[in-house]
Amino acid sequence: MHELSIASALYESCQKAVAAHGRGRIELVRVAIGELSAVEPMQLESAWQCVIHGGPHEGARLEVQWHRARQHCFACGEDKPRALGSWLRICPDCGSPLLVEGGDELDLLQVEYETECVA
Ligand SMILES: [Zn+2]
Repeated sequence: MHELSIASALYESCQKAVAAHGRGRIELVRVAIGELSAVEPMQLESAWQCVIHGGPHEGARLEVQWHRARQHCFACGEDKPRALGSWLRICPDCGSPLLVEGGDELDLLQVEYETECVA
């Protein structure tokens, strides 16, 4: 289950991001996951819970933005839909090869945290 190592790396990045701005408690982490990144969002979320459990940031939420890959046909000039889990690669309408765009996202988008300083 490689989601656990991804969650650990994510957690480390978040802690660095917070540390760069002082001290704080992570509340929300937003990530972009593409369907081609081989990351299962549900598993990543449970791995995240494991990683933060018992630590100073326990309770931090992980929000996953799911990105589908797009299949574009230049001949038709439009994106072609596909069934989940099956790649067409060839345009169902004209038989031209399809260009696959996106879907490989694995990005840390945003870290929200509460500062410990009391104003
Ligand atoms: Zn086409």
